[in-house]
Amino acid sequence: MDTLFLERMLLLLSQGSFTTTYKYALLLALIDLNVEGAGRGGPVSSVTTRQLAERVIVLYWPHTRPYARRRAALRRLMASRPLTPHLRRAGRPKALQDAGRALLQSTTSHKRGRSQAEIVSKIADLRAAVRRIDPRADRRPHLAQRADPKGFERLVREVEWVLAEKPIPRLQVVGRLHEPFLYRLDWTIEQSKGRLIEPGLPKLTERALRDGSLSNALTLLPGVHERLVSLSAVLRPLIHRHWSDMVARLNALPERHLESFLFGASRASLAPVREPLWSLQGGRCFYCARRVALSDAEVDHVLPWSRLAEDGLENLVVACADCNSAKSDLLPGREAVLPWLGRPAAGLTRTSEATGWPLARDRVRSTCAVVYRQLSPGVPVWRGGGDVGRLTEDEQREILTALGRLED
Ligand SMILES: [Zn+2]
Repeated sequence: MDTLFLERMLLLLSQGSFTTTYKYALLLALIDLNVEGAGRGGPVSSVTTRQLAERVIVLYWPHTRPYARRRAALRRLMASRPLTPHLRRAGRPKALQDAGRALLQSTTSHKRGRSQAEIVSKIADLRAAVRRIDPRADRRPHLAQRADPKGFERLVREVEWVLAEKPIPRLQVVGRLHEPFLYRLDWTIEQSKGRLIEPGLPKLTERALRDGSLSNALTLLPGVHERLVSLSAVLRPLIHRHWSDMVARLNALPERHLESFLFGASRASLAPVREPLWSLQGGRCFYCARRVALSDAEVDHVLPWSRLAEDGLENLVVACADCNSAKSDLLPGREAVLPWLGRPAAGLTRTSEATGWPLARDRVRSTCAVVYRQLSPGVPVWRGGGDVGRLTEDEQREILTALGRLED
């Protein structure tokens, strides 16, 4: 049962479908509340949207400062001549002003450029307002609360609503599959027009949340409190890493390049095998079998890179952009695994000999066996297109049998 919990947590962290950093804040807030609750004695069985909002404000508070290193780097750049095209376009004052703002934590953009995550803007606004009352009071949330109790209360309520409307009901959705592994709610929201995330539950409205006609409690599932407390030391740095990585990516900061330089799979480096694999697959996407132009074909790691840092040909296929992005970091289900394991060896071996690219057949297959053997049934797997399902016991057996047959 604990592997299922960890699998879900890792999947949640690596999922790319979030447009803001809210999920990281929400997870850390949940962990904090559980760890603190444990300290006050007694296990925590539920937390409220308000408690989460208060914690989330504490977490984002320091993020609303300007990022000093970016500012310094920009000053150096601007002192240099000639100006970079970006700075020339942006104009010096504008660029410096941007560098003085908080780092972006949202991928959404509007006509005038990229927009900031709502929660970050709201905190930054309150900090600015509080500074006008007392220049030192914006340093910490509790000082700001003392300086401007009404403004602070408004902030808590606004952040609470953003959390209730956005990350809280969406956190446990993978693809289109909603599978709670942390908490249950008494209400739901629309995932898309007319389609509730949890059909049968009342739809959340701000009024219902405020007047208490819908519960503001997240009921933790059995065992979740114990797991969050015992795993907090492992989860916290992991969440910090993912969060920083997303912010680095959103703000085009060099930290991201450093990490991908040290540990990442570079897409460019897979270029030499793209064409041979594409030819082997007859110019079709491995997963959906649609024709794909060589220029649109993407090399995909069948066992995701996050799980097995293996570039050997055995772990690579060519896929269309749709399949590649839908599959993302998900493990493939039987629909993709069985054809993949059944791929004729001769073509791959030939390609490996012709290009000098390693095949890594044994390593990939033995890892595959280890991974699928230790998965708990119920773990989300990719079934093709936007379809995400749960791994069944039969399916697991079928995959392991196929692997066993190949070993003989
Ligand atoms: Zn495809």
